[in-house]
Amino acid sequence: MIEIKGSIKQYAWGGYHYLPMMLGTNLGNEPAAELWLGDHKSGSATLIDGSPLCKWIEAAPEYRLGKGLVLRYGCRLPFLFKILDVREPLSIQVHPTIEQAKKGYKREISKGIAQDQRSYHDDNHKPELMLALSDFYLLHGFRNVTEALAELNKYKSLNEIIKLYSEIGIKGFVSLIFNLPKSNLGRLLTPIIEANRSAYAQNEISKSESLFWFMRAVERIERDNMDLDAGLLMIFIMNLMYVRKGDVVYQDAGVPHAYLEGQNIELMANSDNVVRCGLTPKHVDTRELLEITDFSPITPATVKGRANTDGSTDYIVPVDDFALREYKLEKGQSLATPEDKGACIWFVLSGEVKLDNQQHYSNSGSAFYQRPGEVNVFRAISDAVIYRASASTN
Ligand SMILES: [Zn+2]
Repeated sequence: MIEIKGSIKQYAWGGYHYLPMMLGTNLGNEPAAELWLGDHKSGSATLIDGSPLCKWIEAAPEYRLGKGLVLRYGCRLPFLFKILDVREPLSIQVHPTIEQAKKGYKREISKGIAQDQRSYHDDNHKPELMLALSDFYLLHGFRNVTEALAELNKYKSLNEIIKLYSEIGIKGFVSLIFNLPKSNLGRLLTPIIEANRSAYAQNEISKSESLFWFMRAVERIERDNMDLDAGLLMIFIMNLMYVRKGDVVYQDAGVPHAYLEGQNIELMANSDNVVRCGLTPKHVDTRELLEITDFSPITPATVKGRANTDGSTDYIVPVDDFALREYKLEKGQSLATPEDKGACIWFVLSGEVKLDNQQHYSNSGSAFYQRPGEVNVFRAISDAVIYRASASTN
């Protein structure tokens, strides 16, 4: 196994402390939003000598990825492992299926759409699994109609569109709000903003209410001089999900979602394809949004782990691009890493460990790459929590 270093993404919504403290780096006053541990070209991890992991893999793909993975996915890892620190809400987004991604990528390339206007950066799908590393809040799929109506009915100014929600359904409603002229959006939303401004400022609205996240999004819109955005109405018709540390959520293609606050591990298919769906100053491709979104309401649920005989826990999702395994080692315990037919990424979340083939001790934030067929031994110097990302073994 070799040690790898992740690539840090300094998006504006990121926090200032979590990742720098975990990695022992100092980024000054710059936010650190994501740590990417994978070979995606937009942010490849590196080896200790600074050379990109993607180049290293491409130099000997069958040896370093495994024959099976190369045949199925080509000369790249099928998954991308990330750590996120969400300080401010992200935009609402939807990810495509493989067929939609292939079509969309081809179309945007042939039309010569500029990089920053694109939704498709590759031809892959991007199902996502997240494991909360703190209390975590997110928007996840559409609420059932009764709940959405109850939420919308709290606000008098929304009267005229509530009737439409019942009449034209969720898809019609989403299409309508994304096509509203700015002035209409202002007429609907400004009364809600003004009525709740002081309660929000005085911390009187709970994070368990959709209104809190509506006001938080407004706070950012006003601070950054952005326009009011149809995504603000999406907050009321989407499920607000609170997950506790250790809980896992899966987001399949077509499910709209937005991370609101907290830290998490995110494991996904190796792709960067995002169709935006509001709460963003960037262009929303409404046509594509209506095309790929799944408008059926869903009941939010966490993914239950499956306990293995060696004490580890597997989080299995309905795609075979990735699976996440968790090990909780006690001080003094050792773990012979299970041999795998494909490449794996290991991540030390907490504690101190020593790998048998390394001279030094490794702390929280350390990551390793395991070649197919390779075995190594982790020795826990203190209690330690370790994660392994692999292609699904199912
Ligand atoms: Zn996403």
